[in-house]
Amino acid sequence: MQSYSSKEELRSQLQSARQGKKVVLVPTMGALHQGHTSLFDYARTIAGEDGLVVASIFVNPIQFNNQDDLNTYPRSLTADLNLCAEHGVDYVFTPAPETMYCPDRSVTVEEHSLSSKLCGASRPGHFTGVCTVVTKLFNIVQPTDAVFGKKDYQQLAIIRRMVRDLDVPIAIHGAEIVRADDGLAFSSRNARLSPEQKKDATVLRRALLQAHHEYACEGKSLHTIIDDVRKAIAAVPGTTIDYVEIVHAETMQPLEEGDNVSPALMAVAVFFDDVRLIDNIEL
Ligand code: AMP
Repeated sequence: MQSYSSKEELRSQLQSARQGKKVVLVPTMGALHQGHTSLFDYARTIAGEDGLVVASIFVNPIQFNNQDDLNTYPRSLTADLNLCAEHGVDYVFTPAPETMYCPDRSVTVEEHSLSSKLCGASRPGHFTGVCTVVTKLFNIVQPTDAVFGKKDYQQLAIIRRMVRDLDVPIAIHGAEIVRADDGLAFSSRNARLSPEQKKDATVLRRALLQAHHEYACEGKSLHTIIDDVRKAIAAVPGTTIDYVEIVHAETMQPLEEGDNVSPALMAVAVFFDDVRLIDNIEL
């Protein structure tokens, strides 16, 4: 495995190594866990034995609308590089913010529809930061394929839309959410939870499974399903609900009662004290 912090060096290495092979990019912000390593393993199945798997580790400052969140974001580069090597990553790109962004940068990539909902509504500018950094990573690595997790379902939908609308010649693959045995989705932010909060946070999975049951088996109204999820979460002390919504899984627009959309998506964002976790389930 080779690791580069310079985009020029990574580009020139990839230029000589690619030779018509598949190049599969997995963008991450580091503090890697089993969710990320499942993406590396999936990337290998796409790349094949001969292909190249490239991971990027970059805590992208422009997608944080809250300076505290950026400052407290977990970082563990040495352990991350070991995990990448163990999971067969060929190249790791670890740029510094100054490498990625010119001080007088003035161009961004903005999606105008899906981004206005869910996390986009509560984190203004977040998805412009995401689309901009992903476009830059696409241009630096020039992959044939890229893998994103369904854990960030809205992000995946927005990247698919961006690639479609801007004719980006890269195949986008969505990977299933990886969870601990107790149902809590792996997330870098889990590192900021106390053991007690980690237990509390399993309410998200339980509430989403309950919602799935009410939707698929009991035919309850969307309003009731959302209400039940809100109640289950609110019963856990220390939680503050950011959103609980049922949306169209491609457009992210909220569903109306009686809309027959498959798959619909239930998405939640909840603070456990100051740690914000997201989760979702296809209904
Ligand atoms: P992040 O480092 O949080 O920006 O995540 C990098 C990529 O890993 C994104 O495509 C995420 O959706 C994906 N990811 C994060 N956690 C999980 C998980 N528990 N299961 C599957 N994919 C995940």
